[in-house]
Amino acid sequence: MTLSIEQIAAQLQGYDPQALSAEAVGEFLARLVTPLRETESVGPREALGRVLARDLVSPLSVPPHDNSAMDGFAFDGAQLASAPLQLQVVGTALAGKAWQGTVGPGQCVKIMTGAIMPPGLDTVVPQEFTRTLADDRIEVPAGLLRPGDNRRRKGEDLMEGRPALAAGERLGPAACGLVASLGIAQVEVFRRLRVAYFSTGDEILSLGEPPREGAVYDSNRYTVHGLLARRGCEVIDLGVVRDEPALLEQAFRDAAGRADAIITSGGVSVGEADYTKAMMKKLGDVAFWRIAMRPGRPMAVGRIGESVLFGLPGNPVAVMVTFLAFVRPALLRMMGARATAPVLLQARSAEAMRKKPGRTEYQRGIVTRDAAGALEVRTTGNQGSGVLSSMVQGNGLIVLHHGQGNVAVGDAVDVMMFEGAI
Ligand code: AMP
Ligand code: MG
Repeated sequence: MTLSIEQIAAQLQGYDPQALSAEAVGEFLARLVTPLRETESVGPREALGRVLARDLVSPLSVPPHDNSAMDGFAFDGAQLASAPLQLQVVGTALAGKAWQGTVGPGQCVKIMTGAIMPPGLDTVVPQEFTRTLADDRIEVPAGLLRPGDNRRRKGEDLMEGRPALAAGERLGPAACGLVASLGIAQVEVFRRLRVAYFSTGDEILSLGEPPREGAVYDSNRYTVHGLLARRGCEVIDLGVVRDEPALLEQAFRDAAGRADAIITSGGVSVGEADYTKAMMKKLGDVAFWRIAMRPGRPMAVGRIGESVLFGLPGNPVAVMVTFLAFVRPALLRMMGARATAPVLLQARSAEAMRKKPGRTEYQRGIVTRDAAGALEVRTTGNQGSGVLSSMVQGNGLIVLHHGQGNVAVGDAVDVMMFEGAI
């Protein structure tokens, strides 16, 4: 069910669009967006980065048989009680070619990694632990092995009939390989999320245009493209839209007709003398927020037609931070992914930081290991919301939470690492 902005606002206690905590923004957006329904069937290569639409139950066990984890000799481990053992080698088991004969007490089978354990044998002595006594006789030393060692169990990775992957799983390289390990050639994933983006602002230059006084090249278009592409979204790039009502209206209508979500940058600040906000208001059901955060603060959120709108601020760092803090989790929910907040690391601050309680601050940080091997973080320096180079230098965002105050040298702080989040 889709709820209007007013209905969602009524569900949230103490909702104040002029002073919204980062936490309240997250709660609001979780109610605003709904998961995709359409799915498609893809192979394990195209499945990379996609979200699994249905639980995947193992049609077979992996591995399908007990097998050897080492190159060595397989024997019945019950005999280890009387080690050292002298064993007669009666045959060879190869990967893909099982040993068919029977093996009695005092006997063993030469076995290769991955070869099926012959019936009745449960232990493998690695080749390098043995001493060759004669062509067909080896000695297993005492004290090195326990019964069952170096045997991989049938189904120890995946057991037939059990869930192997749950719906909502974002398929990474390991999951794609796991799908293939089950012999599955096609999996059902949600279709790609379509996200339209455009930059607003008369001072924004597109690549190829000559520089002019007071104008800046559009970087948001590229950072947002990267952030969306990393999430596996289909990006509809509508470029820079000038501050003219007719052009803005056309861009919003075009985006709403084609995209599940629309992201814009710029033009949502208080007192902004442009038409972006007015057009959002005219065409959609939109809330204009001031969020208790830094960088970021202004943001517009709502719906235009069937599309969800994220009107981000214009400053390049604010765009990336609001994306990571709010848009990313909302898009993941739309993509059908199970909610997964990035795991925050804790690091000791190498410097003091001024911080007012009552807002969430995201500082660009560089996490390293100190001499003792513990994680330490320092800021990248200038934390201005237009200093995009700070996002390049940093390897994570230091998250100073809403209630937190000043940070002293040596205090523990939370860090959202970029690796995995960006
Ligand atoms: P605004 O939120 O529109 O007031 O923009 C805040 C600041 O961000 C201004 O200095 C803009 O020039 C800058 N800015 C806005 N959009 C972009 C963009 N697409 N690329 C780079 N800088 C931008
Ligand atoms: Mg502007």
